[in-house]
Amino acid sequence: MGAAEGWSALFGQESLACWAVGAIIAAALIALVGLLAYQRYIMGKKPTQHLCNYCGHMVSAVSDCHHAPVKERFLHGTCMECKNDCRLVCARCKRPV
Ligand SMILES: [Zn+2]
Ligand SMILES: [Zn+2]
Repeated sequence: MGAAEGWSALFGQESLACWAVGAIIAAALIALVGLLAYQRYIMGKKPTQHLCNYCGHMVSAVSDCHHAPVKERFLHGTCMECKNDCRLVCARCKRPV
C-alpha cells in the first residue's frame, strides 16, 4: 500500500510538471504568435521606410513619375496618382531607393 501511494504521488508530481511545462510552452507560443500578428499589423499600418543611399535617411518612397504616394510591391510600385507602374524614389531627394 505504501509503495502504491509512493508511485501515485510520484506519477502525480510528474504529470503536474508535464502540465506546467506544457502550459509554459503554450503561453510562449501564444505570445510569439501574438507578437508576429502585432508586427504584421504595424507593418501593414505604417508606410515602409527605405534607407536612401543618397541622403542617408530613412525615407518613405514615392513614385518617380508624379512623386506621389505609391502602393508598394516588390522592387516597384503603383503610382497612386496615375495608377501606372512606377519605380520607387526617395521622398526627399527623388533618387531611386
Ligand atoms: Zn534620399
Ligand atoms: Zn504617376
